[in-house]
Amino acid sequence: MKIRAAVLVEFGKPLSIEEVELDPPKTGEVLVKLEACGVCHTDLYTASGADPSGYSPCVLGHEGAGVVAEVGPGVKSLAVGDRVVTLFSPECGECIHCKSGKTNICLAIREQQNLGRLPDGTTRLRRNGEELRHFMGTSTFAEYTVMPEIALAKVNPAANPEATCLLACGATTGIAAALYKAEVEPGSTVVVFGAGLVGLGAVVGAKLRGAEHIWIVDPSKERRDFACRVGATDALEGGDDAVQQILDRTDGFGADYTFEATGLVHVMGQAVEAARMGWGLCTVLGVAGKGQKLEIIPRYLITGRRVQGGSFGGARGRTHVPKLVDLYLEGKLPLDEFISHRRPLEAVNDGFELMERHDGIRTVLSFDS
Ligand SMILES: [Zn+2]
Ligand SMILES: [Zn+2]
Repeated sequence: MKIRAAVLVEFGKPLSIEEVELDPPKTGEVLVKLEACGVCHTDLYTASGADPSGYSPCVLGHEGAGVVAEVGPGVKSLAVGDRVVTLFSPECGECIHCKSGKTNICLAIREQQNLGRLPDGTTRLRRNGEELRHFMGTSTFAEYTVMPEIALAKVNPAANPEATCLLACGATTGIAAALYKAEVEPGSTVVVFGAGLVGLGAVVGAKLRGAEHIWIVDPSKERRDFACRVGATDALEGGDDAVQQILDRTDGFGADYTFEATGLVHVMGQAVEAARMGWGLCTVLGVAGKGQKLEIIPRYLITGRRVQGGSFGGARGRTHVPKLVDLYLEGKLPLDEFISHRRPLEAVNDGFELMERHDGIRTVLSFDS
């Protein structure tokens, strides 16, 4: 079929909205009609050419929500009409990692996904008769996409796709990190570095877990104020003495839990040092530039601080995303407030510009029906 999609043709150039060919789903695959898609920093990072593992041409986009339009042979858990959220982090339920219950890093389709192809090593996308690759296994800056069944979370159809698409990446990364990865305890003190969608998610998750003090650290007053509206109890501007500022406000020992959501390695270091001596747990969520290193003074670890990371906040997509959608329907996740701009697919480059200007939290693309 012919579909409209935002194609990354050349790194550093605006995405090109074009008509491309999409082949029908093969065994274990599903055709999804996209209803909404968030514009995430990772899309921009790849489009800019800064990511050395990026490839082109490809169709970008990975924060999608939509409806199942067709299922390929062998698909058992999804049917036409089901509402789904796309997962760049699949959950096969059968690999050694999925079975362990200890991680969300599913091994089933990693290799081909990293190369921009579907699990059988081919693409369903074509442009002028040539192979067009699938970004992050999702390619959701498009009217339709074909994805493996194991990379789609079936969610409550009552939820608005404009909100649930945020759970395909940014919002879940922060919320799940607090709920499932760090398992923030009631009454605890939490510090979140960075008030973008991921950091705001961590604030919301910490609040849901009953944290008593939730500090947000961000240089933007607008963002700090926003974080306080969704659950942060106190705000700090941050800077070189951020750790000292936090120690001064937490009886000199630091916070029970810290979350880093900036991708800046010096802030990751601050998040480690602001975690409490004895048991403080630092969760690193931001993606640092290739080759960058995080330096930690070993004494910080010897004296009981722990450091962990969590791609997608440690969420197991098919298990946890439906639960988060239910929490949203119960009024417990302010996803609608995170949507700052709405644009048609044609204006996807606008979404990038808004992000570069730090204007708003999230741009959501909507698709003509
Ligand atoms: Zn993302
Ligand atoms: Zn797996």
